[in-house]
Amino acid sequence: SAKDAGRNQHCHFSLTMQREAQERRDLLRELQAALEHGEFELYYQPIVELATGHIAKAEALLRWHHPRRGMVAPGDFIPLAEDSGLIVPIGDWVFREAVAQAARWNARYGECQISINVSPVQFMSDDLNPCEWVAWAAQHGTPGNAVVVEITERMLMKADGNSRNKLLAFRDAGVHVALDDFGTGYSSLSYLKRFDIDFLKIDQLFVRNISAESDDLALCQAIIAMAHRLGLKVVAEGVATEEQHMLLALAGCDYAQGFLYSQALNARNFEALLERGLDVEPGLSVTP
Ligand code: C2E
Ligand code: MG
Ligand code: MG
Ligand code: MG
Repeated sequence: SAKDAGRNQHCHFSLTMQREAQERRDLLRELQAALEHGEFELYYQPIVELATGHIAKAEALLRWHHPRRGMVAPGDFIPLAEDSGLIVPIGDWVFREAVAQAARWNARYGECQISINVSPVQFMSDDLNPCEWVAWAAQHGTPGNAVVVEITERMLMKADGNSRNKLLAFRDAGVHVALDDFGTGYSSLSYLKRFDIDFLKIDQLFVRNISAESDDLALCQAIIAMAHRLGLKVVAEGVATEEQHMLLALAGCDYAQGFLYSQALNARNFEALLERGLDVEPGLSVTP
């Protein structure tokens, strides 16, 4: 009967929910252990200066080498790390690792800024102390400007006086601030001015569909013009084709990042890329 079917379905749902809850508990336990067991690794994706085609910076992207599950992408564990508060010690580790790497690469290859992602939960936690971070970087002989902190619109919208002071403390130490995934949140343009951001990263959502006559190109052009008027540099995310590269260069975009140039690489492969250089036409040599 329909009633039985309903009961069975209910039974099925609660079993699924039980299983999901169990999986979540397992994953959380494993995530807790991952830091101690050294299962995290930073991968680096080049950020290319469009005018020259040179690798100007790198974005550090977190990878988890799970003993059984293999490599776990951040999208599959960052939300859990945020909910559980584990994002704070994990984010601390990311910062320290990035600083140590920046020190090595600066010594060997000249200036190389490393961008790190800071989640809103981490940023707003009392345990994140910009002064401690900066002191730690100084101990490594790494200047503040070797690190760029990437925050999101989501975070700016929730920002209270406390997080605003943290942003200022980072800025005072020379740490640059980038607004990630721009265009996907609902922040108004006035945030850019109010919070004194250095870089604006246009989300892949807008970059993915740009072509010569598209609305998305018009949108990117407008964002770039506005950002430049406010004194910000622009990074286009998710550049995957030569055409996107060319159109962005023509639009005056400062930097680009995406699979066209390279996916994120482990430190050794990133070094090989730095030594080999990118096989990409400088944007300015492209004629309209
Ligand atoms: P995000 O900061 O916007 O990083 C860019 C993401 O886009 C990366 O995914 C990168 O691999 C991917 N990507 C780059 N170029 C292309 C492209 O041309 N096409 C496509 N389809 N994708 C591209 P990933 O590494 O999986 O990271 C996803 C998100 O996880 C990041 O987005 C960031 O929000 C978060 N995340 C990564 N590492 C960390 C971390 O250390 N801490 C925190 N709090 N969040 C992190
Ligand atoms: Mg980012
Ligand atoms: Mg992004
Ligand atoms: Mg993104």
